[in-house]
Amino acid sequence: MSLLVVGSVAYDALESPYGKVERTLGGAATYFAVSASFFTHVNLVAVVGEDFGPADEAILRQRSIDIEGLERAAGKCFFWAGRYSENLNERVTLATDLNVFADFQPRLPERYRNSKYVFLANIAPDLQRDVLHQVRGTPRLVAMDTMNYWIERTNAELRETLKYVDVLMINDAETRQLSNEHNLLRAARKIFKMGPSTLIVKRGEYGAMLVDKAGVFCVPAFPLEEPHDPTGAGDSFAGGFMGYLASVGGRSDAFLRRAMVYGSVLGSFAVERFGLERLLALKKSEIHARARHFLKLTQFKL
Ligand code: AMP
Repeated sequence: MSLLVVGSVAYDALESPYGKVERTLGGAATYFAVSASFFTHVNLVAVVGEDFGPADEAILRQRSIDIEGLERAAGKCFFWAGRYSENLNERVTLATDLNVFADFQPRLPERYRNSKYVFLANIAPDLQRDVLHQVRGTPRLVAMDTMNYWIERTNAELRETLKYVDVLMINDAETRQLSNEHNLLRAARKIFKMGPSTLIVKRGEYGAMLVDKAGVFCVPAFPLEEPHDPTGAGDSFAGGFMGYLASVGGRSDAFLRRAMVYGSVLGSFAVERFGLERLLALKKSEIHARARHFLKLTQFKL
């Protein structure tokens, strides 16, 4: 089943206690598309500037990622800079330069318009909605991400986009900020009133929690001795989650649970090295081996 994503394709400057990179390919849609492409074909909608290099384009082209929807515009690519604390749990944003995204008006190529699975990755909520409205018919599943930047600056637009979304995937701080509620289960109930019927709370090294009317399902994060760079972990989680669902063409409870595990698997690989490095070297067999490892991690008898 076809999977559509809109979000940032960016250059990132990253600093963690494990090292520093001045400029590397990043962006929410990039991490998502690379992760999801292990499971299914991905249609990418984004904009890049004149500084987007051929080597970076090749990274997308070499995978099952359709880049007809990747527009080139005059100006520079989205640029983001972040620095992580000693324990990698906190990060400060040092720069967010929207650049070509400031005037972006997404146009979906004809063949993208029948996509059945849609992921609105982290980007301005009005762009997310604009893309969604160009999809023909009712998609089987629409999921989205957002972050404090948009919750604070474009709250009304964000609330409007949420009305059209089935699954909201955000981290715990964003859940609390959006709902104005500390307790995550009560926060979920408030968020259900905004549109989504499912909330997935990404909790970094503590795993992820899915809440819907059937109840709550939790997966741990894969225990790693030396994570290097958490950038893109959430987008890679989303890529594993949506990629798996699109590959099986389902959204039943059993599929959602397995998708949570594949999300956690992709997120865990993303943080092992800086930027996209680990994902670009990843093999399908490693994904399945780690998913089996999750079974061992969580199985017990009563
Ligand atoms: P994550 O670590 O999952 O929050 O994703 C980090 C990626 O999101 C980086 O590669 C950034 O380029 C991108 N990013 C950071 N801030 C924003 C923003 N305000 N809008 C869209 N993408 C962003």
